[in-house]
Amino acid sequence: LMQLFRPLDMLGWVYRSIRQGLIDMEAMFDLTDTPAEIVDAPNAAALTVPNGHVRFDNVAFGYEPERIILKGVSLDVPAGTSLAVVGPSGAGKSTLARLLYRFYDPTSGHISIDGQDIATVTQASLRAAIGIVPQDTVLFNDTIGYNIGYGREGSSQEAIEEAARGAAIDGFIAALPHGYDSMVGERGLKLSGGEKQRVAIARTLLKDPPILILDEATSALDSRTEEAIQSTLSAASRGRTTIIIAHRLSTIVGADQIAVLDAGEVAERGTHAELLAKNGLYAELWARQAAERELEEVVGDPA
Ligand code: ATP
Repeated sequence: LMQLFRPLDMLGWVYRSIRQGLIDMEAMFDLTDTPAEIVDAPNAAALTVPNGHVRFDNVAFGYEPERIILKGVSLDVPAGTSLAVVGPSGAGKSTLARLLYRFYDPTSGHISIDGQDIATVTQASLRAAIGIVPQDTVLFNDTIGYNIGYGREGSSQEAIEEAARGAAIDGFIAALPHGYDSMVGERGLKLSGGEKQRVAIARTLLKDPPILILDEATSALDSRTEEAIQSTLSAASRGRTTIIIAHRLSTIVGADQIAVLDAGEVAERGTHAELLAKNGLYAELWARQAAERELEEVVGDPA
């Protein structure tokens, strides 16, 4: 496929779209394979994930050599725990997630999973171990059943329906005129942001990865949908090592640890309570968002 599309502008477009963010990276990978500069090391072994312990060890990175985005980030996420990454816009939060999925290699430092440097294992095995719930899920012009089943090739209808239940989208699907065979996407039924996110959660439940990346949507869903999605997400992340790229602090209060990224460096790290007590950057962000939430309540929910 790569050979066929290489001369076409389309590939460039898809490639740029991928680079822009965590937009359904897994779906895109089918089309483009992987960015050219990331290649498997010769004799790369398959990653084995008995536990799911993720470590960032002094990771530095810049998209361009003259502009460093991450300046020696070290983070330790014990197996089965959650890490929320917060911080000002542009601090490098999503970049951390892209490096873990090995869209890029760090300029220096290492990222490891259960002690294996991710640069030394096959990309296929790495990506099989990581599930992503992106900000904005791209749906295929196909049935909703297909869109969920994409999470794991060859899934049975029972497994698809179980994942839909796990993502609390089964009731919605049951009410569609053609149920799981209803067409969605550009040429079918348009789903709301919350519904699309549930499809992404269902896909991830089918994939059943030991490591999960949740890229929280920047655009606010209405608060009731938001709460419902949050509880589905926390159920989905139980027992998995979870990295949450968070924009709203209210959603990550319960995270096992919170890292505040500021200008490419970990400025603070701790639990919500510890960070509030520190009275530093996190406490400041928290106070600002709390004031914004209050204002929203007075003015009314924007959605
Ligand atoms: P936000 O909260 O706004 O999503 P973030 O903390 O997730 O921000 P990143 O998306 O990691 O920030 O981006 C960090 C910096 O890297 C930004 O200054 C951004 O402009 C830059 N950047 C992101 N992607 C690319 C890219 N593909 N090429 C060049 N620079 C990029």
